[in-house]
Amino acid sequence: MGKQINVALIGNPNTGKTSVFNALTGLNQKVGNYPGITVEKKEGVCKLPRGVKAHIIDLPGTYSLNASSLDENVVIELLLNKNDKDFPDVAVVVSDVENLKRNLLLFTQIKDLEIPTILVINMSDRMAYKGISLDIDYLERELNTKIALVSTRKNKGISELKELIANYKELSIEPCMNASSIDEAYFSSLRKAFPNQLLYKLWLVITQDVNFGKTDRKTIEDVTNFKTKTKADLKRLQQKETIKRYQFINDTLKKGQTIDLKSAKDLRIKLDRILTHKVWGYLIFGVILLTIFQAIYDWSSVPMDFIDSAFASFSEWTKSVLPEGAFTSLLAEGIIPGLGGIVIFIPQIAFLFLFISILEESGYMSRVVFLMDRIMRRFGLSGKSVVPLISGTACAIPAIMATRNIESWKERLITILVTPFTTCSARLPVYLIIIALVIPEGRFLGLSFQALTLMLLYLIGFGAAVGSAWILSKVLKIRSKTFFVIEMPNYKVPLAKNVALTVLEKTKAFVFGAGKIILAISIVLWFLASYGPGEEFNNAEQIVTEQFASNNLSDEELQQKIASHKLEHSFIGITGRAIEPAIRPLGYDWKIGIAIVSSFAAREVFVGTLATIYSVGSDEEETIKNRMAGEVNPILGGPLFNFASGISLLLFYAFAMQCMSTLAIVKRETNSWKWPLYQLVVMSAFAYIVALAAFQILK
Ligand code: GDP
Ligand code: MG
Repeated sequence: MGKQINVALIGNPNTGKTSVFNALTGLNQKVGNYPGITVEKKEGVCKLPRGVKAHIIDLPGTYSLNASSLDENVVIELLLNKNDKDFPDVAVVVSDVENLKRNLLLFTQIKDLEIPTILVINMSDRMAYKGISLDIDYLERELNTKIALVSTRKNKGISELKELIANYKELSIEPCMNASSIDEAYFSSLRKAFPNQLLYKLWLVITQDVNFGKTDRKTIEDVTNFKTKTKADLKRLQQKETIKRYQFINDTLKKGQTIDLKSAKDLRIKLDRILTHKVWGYLIFGVILLTIFQAIYDWSSVPMDFIDSAFASFSEWTKSVLPEGAFTSLLAEGIIPGLGGIVIFIPQIAFLFLFISILEESGYMSRVVFLMDRIMRRFGLSGKSVVPLISGTACAIPAIMATRNIESWKERLITILVTPFTTCSARLPVYLIIIALVIPEGRFLGLSFQALTLMLLYLIGFGAAVGSAWILSKVLKIRSKTFFVIEMPNYKVPLAKNVALTVLEKTKAFVFGAGKIILAISIVLWFLASYGPGEEFNNAEQIVTEQFASNNLSDEELQQKIASHKLEHSFIGITGRAIEPAIRPLGYDWKIGIAIVSSFAAREVFVGTLATIYSVGSDEEETIKNRMAGEVNPILGGPLFNFASGISLLLFYAFAMQCMSTLAIVKRETNSWKWPLYQLVVMSAFAYIVALAAFQILK
């Protein structure tokens, strides 16, 4: 009793492994209708009948045990290493009833490793629709396995699966295929040299160049004089292996599966023809994007106005009920406006992810990947780079991790390097507030200028990514093979639950991930803005009063002058003014300078920072936007945030590499400091030059 067994979920991408994982463990991992969603293994616990407990691992999707990407390596290394603490007692191979033939290739390979295996045939709810019927008993006999016919969507077959796992001791470890039939002579020499080893395992070690235990390719070659086989011979034998496996699978399915083609002619074919069409495909994608950006604006304006004024009154109310002093000021001028600057963007971020997750869930995103592969190829990227580039709209960090399913290292490196150009959710608040300030409210053909500007900024981000990818593909001298396998999942009506979960998860990640940093920085900034060294700050009242003694200012005007004099000579004012010469040509003043500097901790800090800076010393109940609109350019006169400086700032944020966490993840994924530093320098320099040019031309 109390024994815990290891269960590994293995299968081709998009067969529903994560859905099975969630059904078994009751956890909520992200499910997605496109390949490459699960990039790292996830773990959970499942209680089985008779007190058995199972430790379940959700592995990245893999097409076969012939590794071509990092994702697949993770799986192979685990399956070859009996000493790994996660080595499975049972392998649960998840397959999709509509793609059984291709899914079974991996299954037969795992069987040959003599691991107790259960075959899950998932998505059984699609069988009737597709006219598929299966002879389960026959398949179980031919494949030497137990089969669970499951539909995670309809919650069917899960308890049967649990029962099978609990009885794992009864599973057969008979292989499906005789590995030595690949090359009889060679396999018998292998058997002689390593009588205690599994032949198929040795074969994988030789062909995949992975090592397990103390055996690696070299030791095998030394013992068996394997050198007589060239790389080309090996490739040929591997192909022979694949062909043999497919022959076996075909024979098995011929009897075990019947498909009534009449009912299988479905919507999918017609939809695919249109959605991946050379002209219509791109046009439809364009219209969808436009609709999304318009909706983000139209739907979120009401909740945003509400949040904006709610925080302003909350701050005012705090000041009116708490005794005057440093703490009240910290709360009302530091923390509350800083948080308000974040909460206000929840509606827009939630809507963006609502749409993205509907596109993913419906299966449309994979068509986009396919569609874009034609274009991406020309720029040295893979169609699969679209997934990171689109996920990058949430955050560059998961996006960079999602590059792991790109097979070619060169394409992968380029994707990693250019992904931070994608507009992430942290940049969204910056864009939104500046757009609100400098872009007029009119409409063109029913589309608002502001929505169009936002969409343009996203397109500029993608454009910069693709353009720099093209340059990198010419500059980088890396040789790596390219090939492209893409899954075309079926169209599905998105499940409200899955969509809601994604929206919730992304919004939460934004609020809490960003929230912590913003809160901390708001406090630091409030302090730096409320205190200062020397005479000018400490005697501000006296200095200003004397200076304006003859001007007959009203009391209120005088207080304003004192407040701004203090801010200018506070710690933060001094810092901001120190960098002002560098940013003045871009149309910014020292206050924006402070915001830019603090943005390097994380971009989302920008709005919070400005909110804090502008709140300090101001009495009226005013929203951040109004305060920013009232700022005057100290040199040129006129509003500080005008068209020229606004566009310049937008472009600066579009291109600059301002995120420490992204740099850290790039270091991890490329295993060197060279690439992140390169990103930091090149992107920021580019941002500076573009912003400078924009301001100088437009002013
Ligand atoms: P993974 O890539 O193998 O981890 O697959 P996911 O669990 O992410 O699922 C891929 C897609 O298949 C998602 O859109 C799921 O909603 C969908 N899916 C999963 N299980 C079922 C099922 O039983 N029936 C149907 N119709 N769709 C399913
Ligand atoms: Mg998954």
